[in-house]
Formats: sequence, C-alpha cells, structure tokens
Amino acid sequence: MEGGGLPISRVRRELLYLVEKNATVVVVGHTGCGKTTQIPQYLHRSGWTAEGSKVLCTQPRELVVVSVAHRVAEEMGAVVGGEVGYRASSFEARTDEGGSTSSIEFSTDEALVSLMQRDPLLSPYTVVMVDEAHERSLATDVVLGLLKKVQRRRPDLRVIISSATIDAEALATFFGGAAIVSVEGTLHDVDILYAKVPASSYISEAVDTVVKIHKNERPGDVLVFFPGEEDVSQALELIEEQNDFERQRGGADDLVPLALHEGMPTSKQLQALRPAPRNHRKVVLSTSVAETSLTIDGIAYVVDCCFQRERYYDPITSLESVVTCPESKASAVQRAGRAGRVRPGKCFRLCTREAYESGLLPESSVPEMQRSELSHVVLQLKALGVDNIMSFDWIAPPSAEAMVRALELLHALGALDQESRLTSPLGAHMAELPVHPTVAKPLLVSGELGCVEELLIVAAVMTVKSSVWQLGRGRKEMERQKMKFAVAEGDHVTYLNVYKGFLEAKRSPGWCDRHCVNYNAMMKVLGVKSQLWSALEGLGIKHSSSDKETLPVRKALAHGLFANSAVLSSTSTDGKGRATYTTVRGKVVTKVHESSVLHRNQPKCVLYTRAIQTGPATHEMFEVLAVEQDWLTELAPHFYTSPGVG
Ligand code: ADP
Ligand code: MG
Repeated sequence: MEGGGLPISRVRRELLYLVEKNATVVVVGHTGCGKTTQIPQYLHRSGWTAEGSKVLCTQPRELVVVSVAHRVAEEMGAVVGGEVGYRASSFEARTDEGGSTSSIEFSTDEALVSLMQRDPLLSPYTVVMVDEAHERSLATDVVLGLLKKVQRRRPDLRVIISSATIDAEALATFFGGAAIVSVEGTLHDVDILYAKVPASSYISEAVDTVVKIHKNERPGDVLVFFPGEEDVSQALELIEEQNDFERQRGGADDLVPLALHEGMPTSKQLQALRPAPRNHRKVVLSTSVAETSLTIDGIAYVVDCCFQRERYYDPITSLESVVTCPESKASAVQRAGRAGRVRPGKCFRLCTREAYESGLLPESSVPEMQRSELSHVVLQLKALGVDNIMSFDWIAPPSAEAMVRALELLHALGALDQESRLTSPLGAHMAELPVHPTVAKPLLVSGELGCVEELLIVAAVMTVKSSVWQLGRGRKEMERQKMKFAVAEGDHVTYLNVYKGFLEAKRSPGWCDRHCVNYNAMMKVLGVKSQLWSALEGLGIKHSSSDKETLPVRKALAHGLFANSAVLSSTSTDGKGRATYTTVRGKVVTKVHESSVLHRNQPKCVLYTRAIQTGPATHEMFEVLAVEQDWLTELAPHFYTSPGVG
C-alpha cells in the first residue's frame, strides 16, 4: 500500500479517533503530508463507507479534483468512475450518481452546493472533508456555512476541515470548538534569496532566474509562481525561445518547461506533475494552483514573482477590477515551502528583502466572499432555504452593500419577490441552472422567444472559463481571424458563427488552429451546452431556433444583462480615437475593450457581460452586445425608473 510513509500516517489513529468522537475536526499539515490523498482512504478502510455510504472530499479547484481522483484511484487499484469518483464542476460528474459504487468522491465546493440543492441533507455521505479551507474561496465559505447548518439536522454527519496553514483556531471556533490535529512536518530547510533591486518585469526576471539556476545549481526541478495564466504563457514562450537558441548553438536542450494552470486541458495538467526524463530539469510554470493544493515531486527550487492577481468587485459601482498586487506573507511562506519537501532547497523571491520585511506584503489575503459579486451565491442560498441571507452563518460576512446589490439584481431579474422570497417557478428554475443568474434568465426566456438553440450556445460560451479565442499565432492574426466571424450585433452573436464554423469543420483541431479558435474551450462548450439543454428540457422547455434572426437572441440576452448597460457619450473619443461610453446606472466612463468585436463600431447603447477596471482611471467592457436603449425600461422597468437613471 502506498502512502504508508507519509507524515499524515503518524496521526492516523488519533485522527480516526477524533472523527469518531467529534462532529468536526480540523486537520493542519503542510502541503504534501498526505491530507488529500490519504484521509479519504483512512475513512474508507475504517468503515465510514460501509453499506453504500460515501465519503466526500471537496476542493476549491476543478483541476485538483481531477488529478487527486486519479491519484487516489491508482493508489487503491481502483478506476475513476468506479470506487473513486469525482464531480469536477456542476457540469461534469464522473461518479456513479444514485448508485453505490463510488465510496470516495472528490468534488469542487461549487459542485457540492449544486448537489445540496438536490439532496440538502447529503444523505449518502457520512463524512465531508473540506480541503484547502485556508484558501477561503467563495464556494468554500458557502460550503462551511451550509455544513454547519446540516450538522444541526444531522448530528451524525462528520466534517473534516483541512488546511495547510495554521490559522486553524478561527475555523475550529466557527464550528463551535472543533478538535484540531496537527501533522508535524518534516520540511527541510529552504534558503531564501531576495532580489537586489526590484524587477522591472517579473516575467523576464523569472525566466532569467530559471536560466541561472539551470546553469549554476545542482540537479532538481524548478517551480515558478506567476500571478496569472497569461504570464505563464509568456514565460513558456521565452523559455522555449531560449531552448531553440541553445539548440542552434549546439548546446544542451535539457530544460523542460511545462505550464500548469486551470485553463488548460486535464491531460496537459497531469503532464506537469509527472517526472521529467532522466538528466533533464523540469521547470513548472504555474499560477497559485501549485501553492498548496498540488504536490509536484522533485522540486528543489522555487522562483516566486511575489505577486498575485485578484478580482475585486465594487458594490457601489457594480464594476470589477483585476489587480496584480503583492502576494500575502502567508502565500510567500507556502510557496517557499514547496522547495523543501524532499531535501533542502532554495527559494528565489523576486522582491527585495527590504520590500518583504517592510510590511509591503499583507499578512493574508481578503477572502473571496468579501470581494465578489454575490447574486449567484444569494440565489443558491435562497434555494437551499436560507431565508435571511444577512443572518446566515458566514465565516466572514460579506459587506452589506454587496448583499443589497445582489438582492436588488435578483429582484430585477424576477427571481425574488417583494419579500425577498424565491419566486416560483422563475426563481426556483434560475437556481436550478448551474450558471450565473444573468445567464440563467436569458436561457429561461429563450423558449418563449423561440431561440433556445442559440441561447444554449451563447450561455455555454459565457460559462466556460477559457476564452474561445486563442492567441497562439499572434495578436494581429487573431484579430484578423476574429473579424471573419464578427457581426455588428456584438460578441455574443459572434459566438454563434464560431460555433457554426466549428461544427461545419467537424470539430477539427486543425480548423481551430487556423482560425485562432480555442479547441479545448469549444469542446467544453459542446459539453456544457448539452448539459444545459438537459436542464432546460427537464424544466419543460421545448427546443426552438431563431435561425438567422438575431433579434430574439439579443432580446433574450438583454433579459439577463440589462443591469450592465452603457450608452455612447456625446463627447465621443478618448483622445486616441476610441469611443467612450457612460454606464447607465453608475455613470462611470468606460470603453469597449479591444478584445471585443465591437471595439471599432460605435453602437449607441450596449450591454456587457463584465466591466473591469484596466487602469488607474479606466474601465473597459468585455463581451459586448449592441441593443436598443428603450429595451432597458421595457425589460427592467423598476431597475431603470429611479430618479436620475435611464
Ligand atoms: P496534501 O494534501 O497534504 O498536500 P497529498 O495527499 O496531496 O498531500 O499528497 C501526499 C503525497 O502523495 C505527496 O507528498 C506526493 O508524494 C504524493 N502524490 C500526491 N499526488 C500525486 C500525484 N498526482 N503523482 C505522484 N505523487 C503524488
Ligand atoms: Mg492537498
């Protein structure tokens, strides 16, 4: 049996005893000590999965769900989908639904919330382990609150909360004094080296550091932390160029760069976890996903850019900003720790020691719950019978403004009534669809408007996280290809053409490459579309198509997106010839982002899926749809009749 020598095995007995005696147990142990892969197996072997009952382990990230399910299945000599199952998202489940063969299930926190809408008391489950609780993702916080509620009705339900950092007290207190188990670590020393001067570009600085490590340091793989996926892609290109250059000079090309982030296909992600060929040095270029949730063996060097990228939602303006900010000290410590798992290692921080020590880095990050738009969460909680959202047992309560905004939007969408109760059937149906409420509403009205097929496609594209466009062959070429599909009605309608082309080309990866279309995203779109269709069919909606008619499609979308509206300003350009818009509700000046097919057109009134702050005083709209302004008051009269608005 594998896993016997892992640090977690030393607390196995104690852990099982505490789980037996306590409703909730918090497990703290460093990354790689065996929490995720071993605890579910311990529970399985000690009877918690007897007679068809199940153990569930949740994760904030989809990518991790799939990889740990494979790992655990392998250790148990089982197959994924059999004894070990997973629910990677609310859309993708490889478990034996309703049956009894999966004893151990891995799921995203998100998918657990969906599951609870069908089975609020989680009846087949004896233990739910909430893993990576220290990450404090939006869904993790929701799950923690919900599990506490379930435990009141099901005192037999065991909850294990696992965390890689030691802020266990707060979690334990939240659960009314849970037991705490600490796994003593055997981390080796990690030498921390700082930059002498602040880096002007963290990407090239990181690549240079990797090259230096490769030249000067003993064998051992390298793990580099970047704030975002785009940084990873750029760094990958730079290292590949470097390799080409070495090869041409007849040098050794024994540096193997591998990307690791959530936007890539599963098979590629798993590749980054496998050992490099003999006498090669693997360089994993990762986002924060490798910080605590995935263990990559063989890492001896860590390069940390010392930045993280976070989304902040401003409930006052209803706009978002994506900020690249200094990482928290908690993250910095975790990242450095990745170098010392197998032997003493080194961590190269790309900030100066003064910057690190001067308090520039915050101690810990703001939980996602306190910086997110909440209408989806509020709708889900309403559907789960949480009537008073304000008094829900939040581990970290969101701001009152964010709550009010969410309630206001849900009212305007018709999901909640005057008393803030879920409407029937509309609100209940919206909560059943695993998509954002602004996407659920258009899907639900598409039946009456005769454009179900079209809305399924658009909703699927809007829901799949990665873009349908792929940079691969350069920005210019991507722009050129995009314009072949573009229509004056905007991005959402353009997706219909991309989808049509993709099907006509028989889902060919080659066609996708030639047209700068992201093949993996399109394959996901197909999957999500068919799931959404089953859901709509289940609600009694009949299939229809508006064919070439796009008016119904735009109207249906406007039913969901009306709150995100902007009109062309009379003072028309920003000095560089780009039209400016003003949001109807917040009166914020904004522009159409260049990624939109409408960035050169100047439709009078537009709706957008997202508006993000892209500079100190710049907001830009992403995914833009051209509409008529009078639709706004027609579709959302209450929303647009308050004074000074509309
Ligand atoms: P934790 O959850 O405490 O961070 P894990 O249970 O994920 O730890 O990992 C325990 C050990 O199992 C790791 O130290 C690593 O050696 C091994 N391991 C986990 N996942 C994989 C994998 N996909 N491939 C190879 N080894 C793995
Ligand atoms: Mg883990």
